[in-house]
Amino acid sequence: MPQFEKSTVHMKDPERVEQITCGLIKGGASKLQIITDFDMTLSKFQVNGKRCPTCHNIIDYSQLVTDECRQKLVQLKNQYYPIEIDPQLSMEDKFPFMVEWYFKSHSLLVEQRIQKDKLPQAVRDSDAALRDGYEQFFSRLHQHNVPVFIFSAGLGDVLEEILRQAGVYLPNVKVLSNFMDFDDNVGVADVKSQLVFVQRGDPRFKGDLIHVYNKHDGALRNSESFQQLKENVLLMGDSLGDLNMADGVANVDHILKIGFLNDKVEERLDKYLEHYDIVLVRDETLEVPNSILQKVL
Ligand code: C5P
Ligand code: MG
Repeated sequence: MPQFEKSTVHMKDPERVEQITCGLIKGGASKLQIITDFDMTLSKFQVNGKRCPTCHNIIDYSQLVTDECRQKLVQLKNQYYPIEIDPQLSMEDKFPFMVEWYFKSHSLLVEQRIQKDKLPQAVRDSDAALRDGYEQFFSRLHQHNVPVFIFSAGLGDVLEEILRQAGVYLPNVKVLSNFMDFDDNVGVADVKSQLVFVQRGDPRFKGDLIHVYNKHDGALRNSESFQQLKENVLLMGDSLGDLNMADGVANVDHILKIGFLNDKVEERLDKYLEHYDIVLVRDETLEVPNSILQKVL
């Protein structure tokens, strides 16, 4: 495939990639499901050297929070994001720090009494961008009725709005993420749907908290969401934590793992090559996944 010749494409074992791809091609549309992360995988990491926002960052930098709150959220990001991507620490080491980050940041968001109907404007005002080629990616998968399962430790309500505004929240797309709990019965005339989270684990949001390094547990808890009869999986992520996203699929025949390596590239490339079949280094496009899908579908 000519797309594999791009300088962004790295593989430890190209033969294995070819074998898996052949398996996917043989199975075709009827056996395939996509399991993908969202932030920095479907969405861009940077445009012209400027970082793009995660779902959380869209709220952090919006008018929905006060300047004081924004400062605290940015401080938290500066403290915990380096831990998230630290090449020296194991996932187990990082786990408690991620829980701390989510607990603190979600607690701050709750205090802001965010209104659900203001989210679309916050997304429109943001620099959120999906990777180049996303239209083709989603339309081809929709056309062939391939289930797309988006498994994100971001904010589900924001994520859904990004997909909707991009016109790709199609019926074959399912989202598992952290959804805010809005109280529709707040007795203030113009304050509809305030954010009032109640949550197990992190008692702030609905359902169980999904953070960057507990996707294994989330996958097993939600195994009914996966298409158990679709034994071939194309998995895409940008974190080593994303490798566990397919743990809820009982019988995997062939799984091709594509990893986007955006940050701390030199320090992390070996680890990514060990675990991801294809590593895309500073590649802001979906060209490689699209070229594979073109063969399979
Ligand atoms: O979709 P995905 O699972 O990648 O979403 C998780 C991302 O959200 C993490 O990479 C993390 O950096 C980011 N995050 C954030 N602010 C928080 C918590 C997580 O930007 N408060
Ligand atoms: Mg991500």
